[in-house]
Amino acid sequence: AKSEGRSRWRYFTPAMQVAAEKRSQIIADLRLAVMKQQFFLLYQPIVELETGKVHKAEALIRWQHPDKGMISPADFIPLAEETQLIIEVGNWIFQQAIQQVAIWQAAHGKDFQVSINKSPVQFYHAVAGDWSASLQQMGLAGHSIVVEITEGLLLDANATVSGQLLHLRDAGIQVAIDDFGTGYSSLSYLKKFDIDYLKIDQSFVRNLSEDSSDRVLCEAIITMAHRLGMKVIAEGVETRQQCDLLKQAGCDYGQGYLFARPLTAEAFDEFMARKISP
Ligand code: C2E
Ligand code: CA
Ligand code: CA
Ligand code: CA
Repeated sequence: AKSEGRSRWRYFTPAMQVAAEKRSQIIADLRLAVMKQQFFLLYQPIVELETGKVHKAEALIRWQHPDKGMISPADFIPLAEETQLIIEVGNWIFQQAIQQVAIWQAAHGKDFQVSINKSPVQFYHAVAGDWSASLQQMGLAGHSIVVEITEGLLLDANATVSGQLLHLRDAGIQVAIDDFGTGYSSLSYLKKFDIDYLKIDQSFVRNLSEDSSDRVLCEAIITMAHRLGMKVIAEGVETRQQCDLLKQAGCDYGQGYLFARPLTAEAFDEFMARKISP
């Protein structure tokens, strides 16, 4: 063990030292951020392609750091997962989301849904149960919330994970597979778990054109999803052409900069007002 330790030091360069210090600084800041409420949620509209209606939005977290400015979730979610701070942050996200969905259901109808991203770490560690109780207390139906998970979670789902998923379903909460098609080649989990939505990853949407193989893949995913009783949401829709091709292929929903960027709740309200009276 001693020699192992020594050889590790040999490769621990000054650059690595700096990186490690930066990392532990961010982790310390992250703990403070939880206490000081430096997080907020943006909401990106999810558009029903057939009708243009919006009765869904995805909540996306942002961190307003006091010195460093806005930090992207791609940069801090992995650290929050490692330190399990994601459990606390995740419960905060959920509480924010249900307050917002209550407001939007009052404004836009009871079928309005907010989807939230739930990290695998939350499934492994968090105590199940409080989420459905919170929904009940707010007088909200379970389907007010869609939980977005990734394929990896289902691929090696242990009893805890399966139990938590069942608990969500029992509460009426819906489930979406995020980034569909990027992670794993196995599809067998689709018959094991009751899934409501597949979200086609933006990497398939990006190069969508009349003759691309991505078009074939999108069409295949849509057909499969529909045959299995699921709806499809395309992510990263940026152009009118992508939107038209997805619509032709029978895709149910689109999300992306073509419609709107992730918006503050206030900007989302303005977006909805503009949509209703153009
Ligand atoms: P994701 O769940 O796949 O979220 C979609 C990402 O694509 C978002 O990035 C969104 O801003 C971006 N996006 C939306 N439309 C377009 C488009 O038309 N073009 C392009 N190029 N990008 C688009 P964001 O908000 O930076 O989030 C990045 C990732 O961080 C998310 O990927 C998700 O994995 C994670 N994340 C975000 N918020 C949360 C959260 O509240 N909890 C957890 N656990 N993870 C989150
Ligand atoms: Ca997502
Ligand atoms: Ca995604
Ligand atoms: Ca289903």
